[in-house]
Amino acid sequence: MKKFQSPKGTRDVLPAEQKYWRQVEQVLDSLARIFGYERLDLPVFESTALFQRGVGTGTDIVEKEMYTFTDKGGDSMTLRPEFTAGVIRAYLENGMASRPKPVKLWSYGPIFRYERPQAGRYRQFTQFNIEAIGEMDPALDFEIMSAAWQLFSDLKFRNLCFQINSIGCPACRPGYMEQLKAHFRSHEKDLCGDCRNRLEKNPLRLLDCKKETCKPLADRAPRAADFLCKECADHFETLKRYLDSMAMPYTVNPRLVRGLDYYTKTVFEVWAEGIGAQNAVCGGGRYDGLAEILGGPPTPGIGFAAGIERLVMTLMHQQIPVPETGRPDVYVACQDPKAMPEAVRLATLLRQAGTPAVLGFGGRSLKAQLREADNRGARFTAIIGEEELGKQAVQVRDMTKAVQEQLSWTDLITRFRRPRD
Ligand SMILES: [Zn+2]
Ligand SMILES: [Zn+2]
Repeated sequence: MKKFQSPKGTRDVLPAEQKYWRQVEQVLDSLARIFGYERLDLPVFESTALFQRGVGTGTDIVEKEMYTFTDKGGDSMTLRPEFTAGVIRAYLENGMASRPKPVKLWSYGPIFRYERPQAGRYRQFTQFNIEAIGEMDPALDFEIMSAAWQLFSDLKFRNLCFQINSIGCPACRPGYMEQLKAHFRSHEKDLCGDCRNRLEKNPLRLLDCKKETCKPLADRAPRAADFLCKECADHFETLKRYLDSMAMPYTVNPRLVRGLDYYTKTVFEVWAEGIGAQNAVCGGGRYDGLAEILGGPPTPGIGFAAGIERLVMTLMHQQIPVPETGRPDVYVACQDPKAMPEAVRLATLLRQAGTPAVLGFGGRSLKAQLREADNRGARFTAIIGEEELGKQAVQVRDMTKAVQEQLSWTDLITRFRRPRD
């Protein structure tokens, strides 16, 4: 019989890798607390129309990458390919607009995109997503960006830098789009097939085409920042002043547009030294029109998302030290199998006191048990020897110093007791 394998583009996160995940999750948790963001959990699937409307039908995500299925009731559902549309759906549906603004929310969990699998990119991956809804102030753009900055600083990533751009608003973008279309139309025969298809529907996307034929044309294309209306230009200038004042380095990147339709004004990425050269570790931006697109009142918003698999890969690749997890404090061993009932009781009492404790099973020799304690990284071994049998006592061996002393169970439990959080 053929052996089962995980589906293409998915992966198992094995125990050895979990300490990196735990490190990232702890940093995220404290980041959200420090910046005052509240957690929002959303369904893994939503109605397909939400993403068609919210993400946009001209995008790669909606055109090619969604896991869409018809459920048994005949409704079209899609495994979420991003968080933001769902967050705004939940914001509108749950009446969060009546809360003090901005409403600051974060989410965490699996995201699904049918992409060509490559290093660090999976069809099921995990995203951290943060959104601030209901406020236009560029100080909020700065706050969201500084949260991203602090995230990667706390993770000890090196050589951080922002890439920023402003892609305008409904007042100034149409004029820019016309300029952009005219530029690319005059070179239409040199464009790749994808770009030719997108030219009329979504010309912004031509700016981030990775094909060698299209790149030089994108480099010479008109820049969004030169076509901003006064409001958008002021917004962008104010944001840059905040970044300057906090000495957060940035590059204005006229080709940064992000792949989703809903962005307005500020778009940004954080670049860090990762797996090889500097590359994007998160991306986000402002989406002032999204709530309206989804049938709500005009509601500005801004956020960013980061893929956790790539963060974990970067932590591992940069050999950034993270705290070890899963090492037991105490390994309970017995010299003679007849001490096993006592060993079972002792291990239970230790655990009830919050001490990570492991028990040697199977009536093996003491030597085999000590070897196992060593392999599991136990800090101490509590041995019930001939001497200690029936006396509620143990020999405690420090596994690193190889010194041993006799202790009563009560003293042992007191010494290793851990307050539970
Ligand atoms: Zn504008
Ligand atoms: Zn192209």
